[in-house]
Amino acid sequence: MKTPIPFYLQEILDSVRDKDGGKVADYIPELAAAEPEYLGAALCTTTGHVYSAGDADVEFTMQSLSKPFVYALALQELGLDAVREIVGMEPSGEAFNELSLNRDDHRPVNPMINAGAIAVTQLINGVDSGVEERVERILTYMSRLAGRELEIDESVFGSELDHADRNLSLAHMLRNYDIIKDEAHDAVLTYTKQCSIRVTVKDLAVMSATLANGGRQPVTNDKILDADVCRLTLALMSSAGMYDGAGRWMAEVGIPAKSGVAGGLLGTLPGQLGVATFSPRLNEEGNSVRGVEAFKLLSKDMGLHLMSTEERYGVQPIRHIIDDGDATVIYLQGVLNFNAAETVLHELERYDLSADKVVLELSNVTATNKMGRRMLKEGLRRIRESGFDIELVDPEQELEDLKMSDGTEVPVGDPEDYQIAGEQI
Ligand code: GLN
Repeated sequence: MKTPIPFYLQEILDSVRDKDGGKVADYIPELAAAEPEYLGAALCTTTGHVYSAGDADVEFTMQSLSKPFVYALALQELGLDAVREIVGMEPSGEAFNELSLNRDDHRPVNPMINAGAIAVTQLINGVDSGVEERVERILTYMSRLAGRELEIDESVFGSELDHADRNLSLAHMLRNYDIIKDEAHDAVLTYTKQCSIRVTVKDLAVMSATLANGGRQPVTNDKILDADVCRLTLALMSSAGMYDGAGRWMAEVGIPAKSGVAGGLLGTLPGQLGVATFSPRLNEEGNSVRGVEAFKLLSKDMGLHLMSTEERYGVQPIRHIIDDGDATVIYLQGVLNFNAAETVLHELERYDLSADKVVLELSNVTATNKMGRRMLKEGLRRIRESGFDIELVDPEQELEDLKMSDGTEVPVGDPEDYQIAGEQI
């Protein structure tokens, strides 16, 4: 069988191809010369499968797509408190290069607008870092996220630096209020370098999937960021990633996203996937015209809206309950999070346990989270408290730590003893 996913992506690209409104960024000659007809898309799942269509191998500069990743790096290096001292977490509702700082504390409102991104960038690699080492640190990190060695487009960089008056004025403003310690020119230089890193949509999809995957690059399996850092970054992308269009974007598309003026657009669905498009013509807000349309279709046709309330999270966690002589065996399956564990406990409360022993069989459980594990263990403890023997069959060690809240351990059983004929473990 050949998977239809690249075909779905191609279909989406074909249906937005005739949306030829907008124009390529023209504030520097290098971007003005971009081929406006390029159109590509890629998707990477948190299991590390990459699919693409169209111009998926064409490189372009990250521009503002670098902002969420560098914000994540700053959080990883310094922690939220330190980063929060210099940049806020509120949507600005303003254009990306607005000359705006908070009225009271003079911090930029969020890290997705230029003022915030410039403030964040100069934190990387320590306040005393030289520009070169800082840029190297960012480039190495971006390369790890992409899973290949990325490069800086020196001609875009040079030209951008020659036209950086507005960003320089932001940096001077930040320095005036003591938000940044770096020289204004150095801060803008680092920021402009990070904007000039060249990527393809495939790179972006994988980088974005790393955020979706709690910081583990799903193709190389490289653990790059903490899950908490990814959560914060995605939260900021969802409220501020699309600048002045952020509210409308969340309602219509519902995929935390970030755009860049070279025509890239990336989206991240936590726990599921990263997706990216490339098409250089931009609308008035600086977002790729076809990219925005493609994301609307991805959300609608592929059901990717984050706020979708369809039943996709309501997978049945109980596979079977079998009374087997002196034991009742409860076979669980899928992902055991709060919702799934609640269903299991709810069923157990209603179930008329008549055997001497209750066995939880986890061979078909694919993943658990902290709350799911805690609830299951507490459920087992309570079953034991009401007079039953308990046993856990957990060949993949999904429950990780077998200690219960009262300090005792859950006894472990052998999967072979509970195998159902015709079912694979
Ligand atoms: N390099 C651009 C700038 O700082 C990036 C802006 C963007 O992609 N929105 O103006």
